[in-house]
Amino acid sequence: MIPLVKPLLTEEERNAVMKVLESGMLAQGKKVKEFEDRFADFCGVNYAIATNSGTSALHSALHSLDIKKGDEVITTPFTFVATANAILMQGATPVFADIEEDTFNLDPKKVEEKITEKTKALLPVDLFGHPYEVASFQKIADKHGLVILEDAAQAIDARYENKKAGSFGDAATFSFYATKNLITGEGGMITTNDEKVAEKARSFRHHGQSQQYEYETLGYNYRMTDILAAIGVEQLKRIKEMTLKRRKNALFLNDELGKIDGITTPSIRKGVDHSFHQYSIVVPSEKRDILVSHLKEEGIGCGIYYPKPVHLSPFFRRMGFKAQLPVSENISRCILSIPVHSHLSEEDLKKIVLAVSSAPWEK
Ligand SMILES: *Cc1c(COP(=O)(O)O)cnc(C)c1O
Repeated sequence: MIPLVKPLLTEEERNAVMKVLESGMLAQGKKVKEFEDRFADFCGVNYAIATNSGTSALHSALHSLDIKKGDEVITTPFTFVATANAILMQGATPVFADIEEDTFNLDPKKVEEKITEKTKALLPVDLFGHPYEVASFQKIADKHGLVILEDAAQAIDARYENKKAGSFGDAATFSFYATKNLITGEGGMITTNDEKVAEKARSFRHHGQSQQYEYETLGYNYRMTDILAAIGVEQLKRIKEMTLKRRKNALFLNDELGKIDGITTPSIRKGVDHSFHQYSIVVPSEKRDILVSHLKEEGIGCGIYYPKPVHLSPFFRRMGFKAQLPVSENISRCILSIPVHSHLSEEDLKKIVLAVSSAPWEK
């Protein structure tokens, strides 16, 4: 079986965790600070603030960018639900715009059509590790006086014109959930160059305290633990190498699968270095089920991200969202992710290509 996801955890992570256990200091402390400093350095930003999940990072970032009740935040429906839920957690209103067919990311033209007097922020996602269309978004934000929060949960080590994901907008967030490219099990990070945003985020994750027992705003317990940060520090040392492997695997798959009729391989825009959190192909919708069962039989893991755009889930439908974003609705019926992770051997890659190309399409 070639799994869709395989985490790389080594002796280094084990030793680092043991050291924290031996120190007896398990909560947020020195290791979290070290992880934050290294992370900020890695992304090329001034500040990084660790949290206990990608969702809490999104929530904290929206708070820190002053997004509140009544504000509209334009985002993508083709994402994990946390992106949209974080907007609701701040009492603001998510507004969904449609995506681009080739990158699966928010389409800047569709975004601009959704801007109203209430729009305060744009929340693009670097989906599957492909950065959003940074230059176009910045133009829109400047023109309309909006802030940009980048959901980089899937994009650590991705680049747009040589700038790292996490540094494109006013703030960005990451997730270290167990299936992401850098893992701590659960965990998240906010990155920003804005000192005020950083300060607010630090306070928000710690019950809104400015100093001990001075509660300035509503806050939460969104802190990361030193045990998790110790894992993160070791993972960060290895991330470049892991990303290069993913990229190499993706290029091989692009070359081989690109030859097969009916399969669209992932595109990479000029100036972009993709981090390939997922390697997602597009197949005719009526053939996807056939391919999925064939891959299962051949022992190749695969997954559908996402089977339904967020605006069509029961929760969002009850809020009044309807089918009206045709590209995301269509892509969700045609997309399929296959393994691309850093453990794949050359033999594995050949097996994957063989399995995909031998699918009984005509049935
Ligand atoms: C994983 C993910 C999140 C949420 O992160 P958690 O750590 O699971 O809370 C948010 N946005 C996107 C795009 C994700 O992939």
